[in-house]
Amino acid sequence: MNCMALEQRGEALLVDCGVTFDDRGRGVDVVHADFSPLDRLGAAIRGVVITHGHEDHIGALPYLLKRHDVPVYGPPYALGLVRERLVEHEVLAHARLIETAPGRAFELGSFHIEPIRVTHSIADATALAIRTDVGTVIHTGDFKFDPSPPDGEDFDIARFTALGDEGVTLLMSDSTNIDVEGETGSEADVGHALERQIESAPGAVIVAMFASNIHRLRMLGDIAKRTGRKIVLLGRGVGTHAKVARGTGYLPWPDDIVLPEHLARERPRKEILAIATGSQGEERAALARLARGDHPLFDVAPGDRVIMSARTIPGNEPEVYALLGQLIRKGAEVITARTDRGVHVSGHAHRPDQRRMIELVRPKCFVPVHGTIHHLSRHAQLAREMGVPSVAVTENGRVVEVTEDRVMLGETIGAGRIYEWFGQEVAPSVLRMRGWLAEAGVAFCVVTYGALGVTDVLLEMRGVMDDDRAGADQEAAVREVKQALANAFEHASDDDRAEITRQAIRRALKHRRGIKPVTIVKVVRK
Ligand SMILES: [Zn+2]
Ligand SMILES: [Zn+2]
Repeated sequence: MNCMALEQRGEALLVDCGVTFDDRGRGVDVVHADFSPLDRLGAAIRGVVITHGHEDHIGALPYLLKRHDVPVYGPPYALGLVRERLVEHEVLAHARLIETAPGRAFELGSFHIEPIRVTHSIADATALAIRTDVGTVIHTGDFKFDPSPPDGEDFDIARFTALGDEGVTLLMSDSTNIDVEGETGSEADVGHALERQIESAPGAVIVAMFASNIHRLRMLGDIAKRTGRKIVLLGRGVGTHAKVARGTGYLPWPDDIVLPEHLARERPRKEILAIATGSQGEERAALARLARGDHPLFDVAPGDRVIMSARTIPGNEPEVYALLGQLIRKGAEVITARTDRGVHVSGHAHRPDQRRMIELVRPKCFVPVHGTIHHLSRHAQLAREMGVPSVAVTENGRVVEVTEDRVMLGETIGAGRIYEWFGQEVAPSVLRMRGWLAEAGVAFCVVTYGALGVTDVLLEMRGVMDDDRAGADQEAAVREVKQALANAFEHASDDDRAEITRQAIRRALKHRRGIKPVTIVKVVRK
């Protein structure tokens, strides 16, 4: 969920505004950075500059724009995706979206910004050279050096070299793959591997991938043409990306190469090249539905080949392997980057390419970005070894002060996470409670008092127990409640009695089962 502010003379510009999806099991849609530390910065926000269209760089714009009415600058393809997001959130009408282009500099307050073409796993990716009062700051965005990008838009190495010759104060560079040695690999190589797999497949081919990788979509269009297949788009994400990419000219597919999904079942299987979302095992995505056999428009059959053209994000392995198992049971042959290394490459520079970036720019100062503290520290170490004079590692919420020749850690203004659910912020207390409910289940108890004392204790539980002993344990808990209330002080308030009841239920269940569910008690008087 990338979002960085550069501030000078009381003005700020934001670089990127993204989301993350890493909060599973608590029912939230997306997570983005808390924007309130921006207020503590005390600067007027002049605008947001987007480097490229990945969700971790654009996804939080709808939420930011609801709070700050500022212009958004970005490459056409990224803005195409931003428009789709803003329509969903009904903030498009008043949004100011301004297209940027490599080499075309623009002013934003006291900042002078020049986008520079880089290559990455999405089309139309840029780095930014930002002229400030203390010199040039280069933010790489996400990048790798791809020697043969499928869209022919080459990495502008010459521009980085020229800026390096001129003198760069600060380089901020993508740290994702700091631990990976060896060549990063080209998208074109992935194209060759995919073509080999698709050509030799006896039945339908289903390629699972991140829909944002337009390079790969483009190559799959060419491969479909050459192998006599038609493209079938399965999943909302891939439909959106294909639509935006065709609209912005990044996906020059001829009209007849795409087969409407509802015709997919009617064609011979050998003519199908399906592209599906859900490479991470997401249960509602197209690939999982195919694996379960409940996709409305297509089925996996024996002899089909499923190609996982994506990396499995750490943590998602159990879901992904379960999904692959289901596909194999359906008779499909599954190809992953483990069985055929060629079918996926990363969009982020490996360590040698990160070194190359530092060599091109030769900055006076270095701040690694885009990674965990582990990645940032390792990248910082690399920069120090290469002789960059001033290096700082910062984490979310910590200011870095930049002078003409030094970076220093400054004050902590704080950083938080905002959890969005159906377009609304979820309070931290709600999330905490969801976690407890998931872990422990819930017990509800209503204690009714008549004139002569307790007349009824009603106990209901959900997500706690459902076995042969459940009835007896529940009765034991009710007995414990009655006992505890009988011993209560005569003048105890209803709140006190509710608390006594709550503790009695938890005590009884702890004693008999070792569990303490979330317990809610209501005392009523007749
Ligand atoms: Zn990216
Ligand atoms: Zn990213």
